[in-house]
Amino acid sequence: APDPALRPDRLPEDHDRALRPQGLNEFIGQAEARANLRVFIESARKRGEAMDHTLFHGPPGLGKTTLAQIISRELGVGFRMTSGPVLAKAGDLAAILTNLEPRDVLFIDEIHRLNPAVEEVLYPALEDYALDLVIGEGPAARTVRIELQPFTLVGATTRLGLLTTPLRDRFGIPTRLQFYTVDELHEIVTRNARLLGTPADDAGAREIARRARGTPRIAGRLLRRVVDFAVVEGDGRVTQELADSALTRLGVDDLGLDGADRRYLRLIAEAYGGGPVGIETLSAALSESRDALEEVIEPFLLQQGLIQRTPRGRMLAHAAWRHLGLAVPRGPGE
Ligand code: ADP
Repeated sequence: APDPALRPDRLPEDHDRALRPQGLNEFIGQAEARANLRVFIESARKRGEAMDHTLFHGPPGLGKTTLAQIISRELGVGFRMTSGPVLAKAGDLAAILTNLEPRDVLFIDEIHRLNPAVEEVLYPALEDYALDLVIGEGPAARTVRIELQPFTLVGATTRLGLLTTPLRDRFGIPTRLQFYTVDELHEIVTRNARLLGTPADDAGAREIARRARGTPRIAGRLLRRVVDFAVVEGDGRVTQELADSALTRLGVDDLGLDGADRRYLRLIAEAYGGGPVGIETLSAALSESRDALEEVIEPFLLQQGLIQRTPRGRMLAHAAWRHLGLAVPRGPGE
């Protein structure tokens, strides 16, 4: 079975706090998003106003939570964090909103999973910094408006398409996070290794960066595992040879794909002749939720050009057949 520690979706982030970049200057990569955020933060500070509501979207582990924390720190305001599935009732959100201090950052992770009743509460809060409470029932019911402190909502989602249009429209600053380049991950791994007190040599850090699926969270986890091997089986230094053998033993291949990725590709190749095959079929055959496939597995395979999404389903690209060591089948008419 694939090692859950290698998956990029959220798991309790062990002793990760020390590695999280604290300021915008320490944050590596996402150059465009960073440059824009710098301007919006600076402007909000100069005007003494709450920064505009910001939505981060993109695959898990790319730094959405980290950026939200950085925004609050750079603004010099408080940070409150919750998530879509945790806010079960309208009252849960109301309680958080009425407790915010002026210009605070409220971070809602997985904002696409807000319950509609909770989302209703959010609209006037975002637009007018107000809460519309319904008091009483039936014909005697009336609405009371409560003023809130101005605040900044930072929403994060792995699935922009699942956000309702009215919610999406209320974010002044929508920002898409991209997979990181190998060079950026190289810098991140080198920095993290230094912070962990286990220096990585240049080629060792690069090997981990190359195989981290474009994702800082995975780079962090792979580095920790490689450090374990370095400490126990080497002299404590992260070299390329050591990184390569440790990652191979962990089932992370040369492209950074792990067991779950390869199972997905092999299924399409071997059971469906390369596709097209529908996502529900894949989900049933792999016993993985459709969400996990769409949010965690597919984005990187798409970015790497290993699969294609077509209206009739998923198809393997030539590169995937080659990566699996299989002959590319000849299509009809080829
Ligand atoms: P998300 O909220 O998008 O799932 P997080 O912000 O929780 O991702 O980041 C996942 C992990 O990766 C954290 O441990 C964080 O410290 C690290 N990380 C994310 N982005 C960067 C970056 N640009 N530089 C260094 N570390 C990063």
